[in-house]
Amino acid sequence: MPIASNLGFPRIGPDRELKRALEAYWAGRSTADDLAAAARDIRRTNWQLQADAGIEHVPSNDFSLDDHVLDTAVMLGAIPRRFAHRAGLSNLDRYFAMARGLADGASSIPAMEMTKWFDTNYHYIVPEFEPAQDFHLASTKPIDEFLEAKALGITTRPVILGPVSFLLLGRMCGTSAGPLTLLDSVLPVYEQMLELLAGAGAEWVQLDEPCLVLDLPRETLRAYQAAYERLGDAGPRVLVATYFGDLGANLPTALGLPVAALHLDLVRGPGQLSAALERAPRNLVLSLGVVDGRNVWRADLDATLGLLTRATHALGPHRVMVAPSCSLLHVPVDLDNETALDADVRRWLAFGTQKLHEVATLSAALQHGPDTMPDAITDALADARAALAQRRASPRAHDAAVQERQRAVSEDMFRRTPYRARSTQQERALKLPQLPTTTIGSFPQTAELRRARAAARAGHMAPSDYDAFLRSQIEDAIRFQEEVGLDVLVHGEFERNDMVEYFAERLAGFVVTQRGWVQSYGSRCVKPPIIYGDISRGGAMTTTWTAFAQSLTSRPVKGMLTGPVTMLQWSFVRDDQPRDETCRQLALAIRDETADLEAAGIRIIQIDEPAIREGLPLKTEDRHEYLEWSVNAFRLASSGVRDETQVHTHMCYSAFDDIIDAVARMDADVLSIETSRSDMTLLDTFARVSYPNGIGPGVYDVHSPAVPVAAEIEKHLNKALTVLTPDQLWVNPDCGLKTRRWEEVRPSMSAIVQAAAHVRQSLQPTI
Ligand code: GLN
Ligand code: ZN
Repeated sequence: MPIASNLGFPRIGPDRELKRALEAYWAGRSTADDLAAAARDIRRTNWQLQADAGIEHVPSNDFSLDDHVLDTAVMLGAIPRRFAHRAGLSNLDRYFAMARGLADGASSIPAMEMTKWFDTNYHYIVPEFEPAQDFHLASTKPIDEFLEAKALGITTRPVILGPVSFLLLGRMCGTSAGPLTLLDSVLPVYEQMLELLAGAGAEWVQLDEPCLVLDLPRETLRAYQAAYERLGDAGPRVLVATYFGDLGANLPTALGLPVAALHLDLVRGPGQLSAALERAPRNLVLSLGVVDGRNVWRADLDATLGLLTRATHALGPHRVMVAPSCSLLHVPVDLDNETALDADVRRWLAFGTQKLHEVATLSAALQHGPDTMPDAITDALADARAALAQRRASPRAHDAAVQERQRAVSEDMFRRTPYRARSTQQERALKLPQLPTTTIGSFPQTAELRRARAAARAGHMAPSDYDAFLRSQIEDAIRFQEEVGLDVLVHGEFERNDMVEYFAERLAGFVVTQRGWVQSYGSRCVKPPIIYGDISRGGAMTTTWTAFAQSLTSRPVKGMLTGPVTMLQWSFVRDDQPRDETCRQLALAIRDETADLEAAGIRIIQIDEPAIREGLPLKTEDRHEYLEWSVNAFRLASSGVRDETQVHTHMCYSAFDDIIDAVARMDADVLSIETSRSDMTLLDTFARVSYPNGIGPGVYDVHSPAVPVAAEIEKHLNKALTVLTPDQLWVNPDCGLKTRRWEEVRPSMSAIVQAAAHVRQSLQPTI
């Protein structure tokens, strides 16, 4: 019979219980036992929920107090020396120190690096390996959690990150050897773990190998073969799980692994099914990832059932598992948590819990076939069918005016006057000094501000009072910036809770949820808005605040907008039209906002695109197309302004070296970009490619509480001047200041201004 299964469930709890438990523990408000109890509660709730939904293969060890990659490193004993050798830490505190660093004055330890988990918004901790790294079984977490579930009467399928992906996701330190050279040392520990799991009663184990969807060299494919030759029957039956894409050229290798089952992501890679059905060896079970684990839409159950039926005919029912495409970690926990969602849109959605029911429904439908289908299943299928039909036809999702406007977009809307010509006009209009100083947009989101926002949302503070409060915040910020001597000012973004949600709340085609949280890293969660229909702007979204700020000063105030690609990237997007089309609609809405800002007297407009790099597809062959349309979307959003209006953009969170040509094609007048954490290695790139437009390489790391000193910033600036001309260099921090305190921001800005003045002086010709 087909097996209803799941690959992983959100760990944060239905109401972000884990976040609260972690933060209480870190703040010393609760004990390790309290934290363990909270974690156990979440696991129990999740297991029970999945079993009750009819999931037969319920995952365990998908829970984590921080991150599953870090858990794997700890399980394998790969603890970097700086943490292993620190005395006086409990295992738990050492674990958190690895994830978050240890702020202990002189003996502080920097955290391990964190980076994005494939193309998701989840971040994992990058394992660190030394040459001849020792691996040994150092934690029994997978077994403990298996037994914990078993005691509740649920036999789970433990999930462990597979050895090859684990190594590939790590970083070798102090050697140029590749991480796969460690494969032989890591495999015995995996073998040992699998034996122990079998001994504990596990029938299946899921080894996640998402790296199998990447472009891989032949040696890596050989490593896969070698690894699973050892693990294939070391313990429980092994399911190798691949997700986030099509296996492409790696499909034959994956199908040939000597394991019991292979999971395929048929949402991202539907095309691989035919080849897989044809070539799957005789005993291999295929786990078919048909319910989208990366998005929030209800599945097309009829179409999916058709696909599953085809697979079942080809393989036989005992060789089919029905599953979400990937772990449900990337979607919110439960739609039932939403009490204020638009009723139409709500009917189109499925969050984690609803997706489990879809999997169970599909599996049951497959098992019974059309003739003996129980009523409940027939009803569920009919309800999904009706919801989908309603969504497809809904005037809520389709706006003829938006589509008409999209069709009318012409070539010239992507182009501005060449940079040289318009920059001369901007110089004349703005009269900025050399090395102009500015910030990235946000100022501290203080406790007072958060309290006022919460009160206003709850209706405890009158809108007019909240408005007055925001104005006073802006006034203070403008006064401060004038006093400290910054050249280009900002209003401070106090009215914004979040740079994407703020705009989502003001654009048609979007809904925002109340509790649709998704883990980003550790205790941090994000609440992506949902794009359900054609996007349009009802009216100006930002001009009131920006114009008010501008009215207080004669220096230019930058208008602040979130760019189309970032809006797209940090939202759940509709799945009924290509991403690039949705992105173009966003671009048109933002373009309209730039016109309104201009009309309100704003002379500089920044369109933030921090997420442009992270939208890059996982496979090389798909990258060119993405960069084409994403750069075009930015150009469409930013090219409607007059020549003398200066367009800025800002990017952060990643290295940009490999997309620098695309960045140049965005053709922003000024680009502020994160470089300080990499000690400005980005400058090497600018030495290599000629980039004439303005650049503000971030001169200090805003994510560190350390206040920079002017001398340090000067060093950075002088270094920048070895590859950039004095006319193109801007001086700014490397990101927005919203996470900092004013006590840190004041001296930091003062240092920036001082450093710029000093370097400016040194540039004057001496007569
Ligand atoms: N303008 C935004 C801010 O300053 C940019 C944030 C970002 O880069 N993520 O907060
Ligand atoms: Zn930034």
